[in-house]
Amino acid sequence: MSIQYQIKPQSPNAHIYEVVLRLSKPNSEGQCFSLPNWIPGSYMIRDFSKNIVEIQAFACGKKISLEKTGKNSWKTEPNLPELELRYSVYAWDLSVRAAHLDAQHGFFNGTSVFIEAIGFEAEPIQLEIIPPDGEAYKNWKLASSLIPSDVDSLGFGHYLAVNYDELLDHPVEMGEFERVSFEACGVPHDIVLTGRFDADLDRICADLKTICEYHIHFFGLPAPVEKYVFLVMVVGNGYGGLEHRASTSLLVSRKNLPAKGVSGINDDYLDFLGLCSHEYFHTWNVKRIKPAAFVPYKLESEVYTQLLWAFEGITSYYDDLALVRCGLIDEKRYLKLLGKTITRVYRGAGRLKQSVGDSSFDAWSKFYKQDENAPNAIVSYYAKGSLIALCLDAEMRVRSNNEVGLDDLMRRLWTDWKKTQKGLEEREIEEIVSELVGISLHDFFDLAIRSTKDLPLEAALEHFGTDTFWRAAKTATDLGGEANEEVQKPATGMRWKAHAKGIELTHVLDGGAAQLGGLSAGDLVIAVDSYAIDPAGLELYLSRTCAGQTLTVAFFRHDELHSVEIALQEAEKDTCYLIASPKGESAFSSWLSSKNPS
Ligand code: ZN
Repeated sequence: MSIQYQIKPQSPNAHIYEVVLRLSKPNSEGQCFSLPNWIPGSYMIRDFSKNIVEIQAFACGKKISLEKTGKNSWKTEPNLPELELRYSVYAWDLSVRAAHLDAQHGFFNGTSVFIEAIGFEAEPIQLEIIPPDGEAYKNWKLASSLIPSDVDSLGFGHYLAVNYDELLDHPVEMGEFERVSFEACGVPHDIVLTGRFDADLDRICADLKTICEYHIHFFGLPAPVEKYVFLVMVVGNGYGGLEHRASTSLLVSRKNLPAKGVSGINDDYLDFLGLCSHEYFHTWNVKRIKPAAFVPYKLESEVYTQLLWAFEGITSYYDDLALVRCGLIDEKRYLKLLGKTITRVYRGAGRLKQSVGDSSFDAWSKFYKQDENAPNAIVSYYAKGSLIALCLDAEMRVRSNNEVGLDDLMRRLWTDWKKTQKGLEEREIEEIVSELVGISLHDFFDLAIRSTKDLPLEAALEHFGTDTFWRAAKTATDLGGEANEEVQKPATGMRWKAHAKGIELTHVLDGGAAQLGGLSAGDLVIAVDSYAIDPAGLELYLSRTCAGQTLTVAFFRHDELHSVEIALQEAEKDTCYLIASPKGESAFSSWLSSKNPS
């Protein structure tokens, strides 16, 4: 093979991987190289090249010059018969997006460690992964969805990738992890768990099998993968995931895993199942069906698309919907989850300023770089995107007399992808929806994707036999989703977190009492009406106040003490809960128990 990579955890305590890239026929005009600046699925420039510590080039055993041509690019001299690039990568980022290495375990994404040889991106690649030296690492194993060609019993050795794009899309975990396995529709699935935990792994296998089989049947057999791996990093406090073509990397908290001997699904475990369901659905929706702008991924700089509502929003709609449809949770529990999502969207005034299409387009500089003003300025293409998917599902059913719905759209997109493997143009989904329904839905898309008007949400839910109710938040930690006794607690228009000296304001909402009174995010509030406060004390104090009442707030901004008066406002009814309507029983059950085609 004309291109080979070799990677080894060289120095776990220093967090250093050593990588060797060998080229048998480099470009005679001088070989160019570059490292990605972002990782697919996480739309932010991350400049992975900042972690390349040392880099050297060799030809026929002799060191040669290597010119730096950009922050992440290099070029050799011309006319080299062969070429070897040797470099070290610092890996100390415990996230799903980059690379990590210490004496406990190693994890890497190809985007962090494999420099691209320009001009060779379509060539097949051989990859050798070598275990770290030393007795301490003799029990390390390797887990990945890479295709092995010659590996030992622990998983170290040689792997193959059909091209550079594939090389980047199989993250690798190594260490003394736990591995459990199950089959879904005949396809082997591994769950690889790293970190300290005590959990019922049999239960996780059984529940993930149910979810994976639901999704495979949803899109239709056969599954698009020959093997699938859930790489799970278990930590004290964390939550997130990143999708890949035949695996996913997850970072979860210990509490997200089910305890042994406990039945039922608590909210923490439900979050884990929802995350797994989400990433697995991406195996079809974004890893294969994807925006044309991502074909191929251009990892040098930002790639713009308005379509993330379809890839993250529709995926977010189906991640929880699959849990009720496959019987892991009941309808009431699903409505609670949906009520929380609706609450999250409707509590942000940013939804009235930024369209979902713009949120997607500007993900690089806004959604992925959220600051204290985010609730006032931006909308999530995940959360609002999932409500668009819900409304689109209802619109399609209403306008087609229940002939087609969103399930049919997803299956059509999948069938099309299998035929052409082409990406979707920016308005192509809208055309396909109109074609499936038989009439144009452009008015719906103009409103949902390109405007900042609220969605026809209550009508959509009514179509699905569900009544929507709104109430005021009961406490600062009230996330919605459930009915709650009506409490006329006034609104402060601020969000906060605990601080050793009081509370620190994290967000100040547009037009709210705090903003009108002169408070800002970052202010450290130490007293209200001359009483020292902490989060619990403030909640208690507020529960005894009413709208119109004025509070004197003492706070530090930077290191200067200030005092302002804020006039409490009537609490907005921005907290949603949903109840199945007795009238809409058949629509409700056809929505939530939609069976997959056999
Ligand atoms: Zn996602």
